[in-house]
Amino acid sequence: MSRIFNFSAGPAALPLPVLKHAQQELLEWRAAGASVMEVSHRSADFIELADAAESNLRKLLQIPDEYEVLFLQGGATNQFALMPLNLAAEDEVIDFVVTGSWGKKAMAEAGKLRRTHLCASGAESGFNAIPKPDQWQSSADPAYIHWTPNETIGGVEFLEPPELPDTVPSVVDMSSTILSRPIDVTRYGAIYAGAQKNIGPAGLTVVIIRRDLLERSPASLPLTFSYKHQAAKDSMLNTPPTFAWYLAGLVFQWLLDLGGLEEMGRRNQAKSQLLYGAIDGSQFYSNPVEVGARSWMNVPFTLAEPQLDKVFLEQAAQAGLMALKGHRSVGGMRASIYNAVPLEAVEALVAFMHEFEKRHA
Ligand SMILES: *Cc1c(COP(=O)(O)O)cnc(C)c1O
Repeated sequence: MSRIFNFSAGPAALPLPVLKHAQQELLEWRAAGASVMEVSHRSADFIELADAAESNLRKLLQIPDEYEVLFLQGGATNQFALMPLNLAAEDEVIDFVVTGSWGKKAMAEAGKLRRTHLCASGAESGFNAIPKPDQWQSSADPAYIHWTPNETIGGVEFLEPPELPDTVPSVVDMSSTILSRPIDVTRYGAIYAGAQKNIGPAGLTVVIIRRDLLERSPASLPLTFSYKHQAAKDSMLNTPPTFAWYLAGLVFQWLLDLGGLEEMGRRNQAKSQLLYGAIDGSQFYSNPVEVGARSWMNVPFTLAEPQLDKVFLEQAAQAGLMALKGHRSVGGMRASIYNAVPLEAVEALVAFMHEFEKRHA
């Protein structure tokens, strides 16, 4: 068996030590005589695992006590609906800043449930830049403002969160950038992320939410939709995705063991600089995103001759470099270089790109 270098946008690469650990105890977890998938989520062992995962995530992100951490299902897409249902009353407006496809989707879903207001959009720059926060046109009294710290498809990232008034909570979709470097959680009212990019396998969704905002959840919501109720039940209102929770816990431990998010941030910066440097240093590859908004996690690039895309992908695959095809909506290439993608993978990609350019340009 040989593992390839995996640049998949999601579900994405998982750290090899985590997979090996899981493999080693797959058949028999602790003294259970069964796998972790085959035991009750209410057993003492599982509850201990769940608590340890939460406490390690709190350590990594330095999540203060006044925030609740929820381990839910349904993906980020489900939160596009649950955030409005929990945090905005029926007569309230939600502000949206749209810097790409996921923000657009989040706003469209919220629009089915509540009034929405587009307070800024990256459309003018072809979604290749972040509109200047001092030009955002907020509504008078929004329930919250929603934005997407990293747009996974366009490769546009807020490298710093915008300065916004504290009176309006920021709700952010961090699916493709959470845990990539340190953040200041107190800048946000709520953070959500599907697990399958930087946390663990698909099926788990993490929501980090300031406790006072839980009071907004209407009592009329169905229980599984209610953040307040999920928090009261420690995310075990019903059966949680136990295996995904377990693997996420292993990923958190792996991150702590290698030095936490400061170290991860250094690694991710080095990886992304290497790749953008190779793109910018060539006449053959290009990335359209404004330099101050380039994602550390998802790097889209195009070839000077798009008719070579297919050959590029075929030869990359032969060289063990997989899942480099750009999203169907934009074409070209995209290298997703999440936490679990090592520097060696980016070095191998850059070497391949040089070779390919020499042969074809
Ligand atoms: C992948 C992704 C989503 C969709 O996540 P699901 O878990 O499939 O719902 C939403 N937002 C962002 C930023 C993403 O990267």
